[in-house]
Amino acid sequence: MRINGIGVGRGVAVGSVLRMAEPVAEPSDSPRVTDAPSERSRLLAALAETAIELTARAALVDGAARDVLEAQSLMAQDPTVIDDASTRIEAGQCAERAVFDAFGAYRDILVGLGGVMAERAADLDDVCRRTVARLSGVGVPEVPESDHPFVLVAHDLAPADTAALDLDKVLAIVTAAGGPTSHTAILAKQRRLPAIVGAAGCCDLADGQLVVVDAPAGVIVADPSGAELDGARARGPETTVPCAPTPGLLADGTRVPLLANLGDATDAPAAVALGAEGVGLLRTEFLYLDQRQAPSVEAQTAHYAQAFRPFAGRRVIVRVLDAGADKQLAFLGHEHEENPALGRRGLRALREHEGVLRDQLRALVAARDLTGVRLAVMAPMVADAGETEYFVALARSLGVESVGITAEVPSSAVLADQLAPLVDFLSIGTNDLTQYTLAADRMLGSVGAFQDPWHPAVLRLARLVGDAGAAAGIPVGVCGEAAGDPLLAVLLVGLGATELSMSPTLLAEVRTELARHTLTEARELAALAAGARSAAEARAAVESAVSRRSARS
Ligand code: PEP
Ligand code: MG
Repeated sequence: MRINGIGVGRGVAVGSVLRMAEPVAEPSDSPRVTDAPSERSRLLAALAETAIELTARAALVDGAARDVLEAQSLMAQDPTVIDDASTRIEAGQCAERAVFDAFGAYRDILVGLGGVMAERAADLDDVCRRTVARLSGVGVPEVPESDHPFVLVAHDLAPADTAALDLDKVLAIVTAAGGPTSHTAILAKQRRLPAIVGAAGCCDLADGQLVVVDAPAGVIVADPSGAELDGARARGPETTVPCAPTPGLLADGTRVPLLANLGDATDAPAAVALGAEGVGLLRTEFLYLDQRQAPSVEAQTAHYAQAFRPFAGRRVIVRVLDAGADKQLAFLGHEHEENPALGRRGLRALREHEGVLRDQLRALVAARDLTGVRLAVMAPMVADAGETEYFVALARSLGVESVGITAEVPSSAVLADQLAPLVDFLSIGTNDLTQYTLAADRMLGSVGAFQDPWHPAVLRLARLVGDAGAAAGIPVGVCGEAAGDPLLAVLLVGLGATELSMSPTLLAEVRTELARHTLTEARELAALAAGARSAAEARAAVESAVSRRSARS
């Protein structure tokens, strides 16, 4: 059996499947079929088992994680929930629905209280999910544990799950949901973990089934033949092309600094070894995920200083917290939104919680002073001049010397001529720019084909940003995944990008490709692609122009 999806990374993995349980469905509202006492006993048993399980997990960890699990165990025994659910059972509900509604009511109270109490809503939701799963006889969706390596198959994975995967155990990941620029896909690429997202057919795979995960081909082969296994094993995991880590240069000597995208401080030394000339995007949200409140200024300073140290004397661009969309944080008051990518995300959420933003900026300045990097800070999800002015004024007032924005909301690209004079640099976030321009949710595998940054509409917007940056005399970077696609990277330079930032493992190939083209040639290729009618036509036109050129030389 062959299952198609969207491949992420270059590696090929062979292993047996371990499935993560499906998300727990909301229980139906149909009336109970058994009598109230039996239904209440089921309820009490499920809550007690959930509490015991959480206490047992707490015993395996220390510190904050232990406190959270112990508090969750108490939530499962909370008399308010038990009384409320019992009353609902008396009134005719089944145990699943009764406990779901009782936890829901409790949740509303916590959220209404705000502050520290509201931050516990996510923990409460988790206890509710576990209890409903137990009552319904299904597994709780969490990364399974195993004493042997496996291919993880899931409906979807939260970025926090992907970031925490044990790479000694997980050989590859396959998800039914998610697009090529979902954060799970980006993290998998950064961790060199072969992945296939948007593979709706993976629901048919069973625990223990042997599979080949061929990320470059975007195919999962279930029950492979001997020949398929040999072929896959010969190709093996992704390796980095050896290449001297020299500065980025076009064939005519034009400098294009090649920078690293980092998601975590621990990635920094490897990025330097692979020739990163600085950092073009330090994503900071992974420091905040799973936290009940923003980390202290001291804790943040220590983390940033660790990320900065290998880049002392060089430029490091940090993006302030981009929560919202797929990374909801209770302490920013995130509530359910029907379309979270269009919701209170990035700077919008930070503006409402300015204290969190101020603390982050203070920590960044302190880490800069400790390590001697040339700090630059940019804001995500900026739509217009008003938001730009707000962020620039705040960051400068706290001592940041170089302040920019990501151009990732189409309005910021359209208005780039107004925004460029307000900032010290612009950075094009092609992942979001593509999702918003083509109205294709990054999290949805079903619209993965639309999420293609080669689309001429995206390229034309990138050109507006490039032109505005040139007119204002400021650098224009690209920090989305497009910068790591070697040929597209050349095009982006032709559209006006002056520096490129990518996952460090991609630096070598981009460096090699840039060296094959002059600036004039890059501009010609960019014009060809921007004039095409679709992403596929743009790619085909550029590839054939490049091969015609190499045939002539
Ligand atoms: C982008 O949108 O292109 C980007 C770099 O940011 P993120 O992928 O974190 O949204
Ligand atoms: Mg973005």
